[in-house]
Amino acid sequence: MSTNQEFDCVVIGAGVQGSFTAYQLAKHKQKTLLLEQFILPHTRGSSHGQTRIIRKAYDEDFYVNMMDESYELWAQLEREAGVKLYRQTGLLVMGPEKSHYYEQVKNTLQRNKVPMVTLTSDNFNQHIPHVKLTEGNGAVVEVTAGVLYADRALKAVQAQFQKLGGVIRDNEMVMDIKPGPIVTVSTSAGVYRAKRVVITAGPWANRLLAHTGLQLPLEVVKINVCYWKEKVPGSYDVRRRFPCFILTESQESKEHIYGLPSNEYPGLVKICYHTGSKADPDQRDQQTDRSDINILQRCVKHCFPGLIPEPAVVESCLYTLTPDRHFVLDCHPTYSNIVIGAGFSGHGFKFGPIMGKLLCELSLGEVPSYDLSPFRIRRFQAKSKSAL
Ligand SMILES: Cc1cc2nc3c(=O)[nH]c(=O)nc-3n(C[C@H](O)[C@H](O)[C@H](O)COP(=O)(O)OP(=O)(O)OC[C@H]3O[C@@H](n4cnc5c(N)ncnc54)[C@H](O)[C@@H]3O)c2cc1C
Repeated sequence: MSTNQEFDCVVIGAGVQGSFTAYQLAKHKQKTLLLEQFILPHTRGSSHGQTRIIRKAYDEDFYVNMMDESYELWAQLEREAGVKLYRQTGLLVMGPEKSHYYEQVKNTLQRNKVPMVTLTSDNFNQHIPHVKLTEGNGAVVEVTAGVLYADRALKAVQAQFQKLGGVIRDNEMVMDIKPGPIVTVSTSAGVYRAKRVVITAGPWANRLLAHTGLQLPLEVVKINVCYWKEKVPGSYDVRRRFPCFILTESQESKEHIYGLPSNEYPGLVKICYHTGSKADPDQRDQQTDRSDINILQRCVKHCFPGLIPEPAVVESCLYTLTPDRHFVLDCHPTYSNIVIGAGFSGHGFKFGPIMGKLLCELSLGEVPSYDLSPFRIRRFQAKSKSAL
């Protein structure tokens, strides 16, 4: 057992958020240790899998603003690591033309001058074959959106962190955190002392925060990641410029349904439901609810006539949700040298680089580059008596 090793900062959790935070800290010449409970790479949290959507199509300006810089930081990592992490495909957003959310997304894109094309029911299938636009639905394409290569990105950022002198210890579960001016972190293999700690433990966040006397209103849900087979090979292929897509609301559900072109598994299109059933991260596969798959089957039958409406492959991933679906990005209310990044699931991957930068700034006591009020812990207290 290694004992009493000292670091400027210990980051707990080597998913996308922890890996980018560690990389930023190392760039700021901090002696940094990144701890991970499983052997890397692993498929037990939220950051595994080959692809994620990157987009600016949001209903809030602050996400669009952050994405400007996040795109730049993704490109910077591509240059540093010499790998391709992003592929432009465009993002098709479809939803009831008069619904609040669809209108908000369209307006936010317009207001922020994000390149976009509005499609009509007359020209829709010229641009997007093999998709049925439901009557009453609008459609816009956010031109610069696309696919991020997730597994590759994680590998790249962890390698860059190590090149900067950072230390990764995987297969080391954090068992205890003792707060104080110097924080003591005990793992299954050692004891570390650090001036600062960042907790980016994804679905396990509350388990770690319990050591610091804090619990957040986080819900962990299992997502069935479904792949659907093309009836005619290539019809939804990334190489034929089929876009990523979001259906904001449908006959089948008020919750988003989203998908990516056939890419990682040729001939299979990834389409998922944007929420799932409650799960224990250590017993993920004991959650066997398939109601989301039933919703997706109806949607595929209705909107994607070129796909067989039965998933060919189903994988698993976890979302960690806050009540308002915004992230948690804050210092611990009692211990300012413990910083927390949590509740990213569902839509946090694309923000990895910018969240890493912000968590690094919080950890170093710097003024954050963005207004973090939507992400502060106190919003839970403020809203606890209302709909939350
Ligand atoms: C199916 C699916 C589709 C998604 N699609 C998109 C998308 O299209 N676009 C997008 O932007 N986002 C998307 N997301 C969201 C995005 O993937 C997540 O927001 C992001 O991966 C969360 O990363 P994280 O680092 O917070 O968590 P994780 O990846 O879970 O990382 C946390 C890490 O902490 C480790 N850990 C926990 N406890 C301990 C401990 N005690 N000791 C040591 N290590 C510990 C865990 O093992 C884990 O590796 C999707 C997510 C899923 C599940």
